[in-house]
Amino acid sequence: MARGRLKFDDERCKACELCVFYCPQGILELDKHQMNSLGFHPVTITQEEKCNGCAICAMMCPDMIIQVERE
Ligand code: SF4
Ligand code: SF4
Repeated sequence: MARGRLKFDDERCKACELCVFYCPQGILELDKHQMNSLGFHPVTITQEEKCNGCAICAMMCPDMIIQVERE
């Protein structure tokens, strides 16, 4: 099965949660322990081993915060 490795531009995430909503694996969430310079909790991945590399999150993000590398 394809796997994905994600990189986030944390400082630009505005916590809209579109990527969280559309991830078919349900493995994205806002990181309540972090706050970026915009004052938002940036998104993070909870279980990277479950990522299938579909890149739907990257496509849904209006600000191109997420990069998905397929493995
Ligand atoms: S690449 Fe697909 S499975 Fe992985 S976090 Fe993004 S939407 Fe979810
Ligand atoms: S869609 Fe983009 S801006 Fe919105 S929470 Fe996800 S990474 Fe952040």
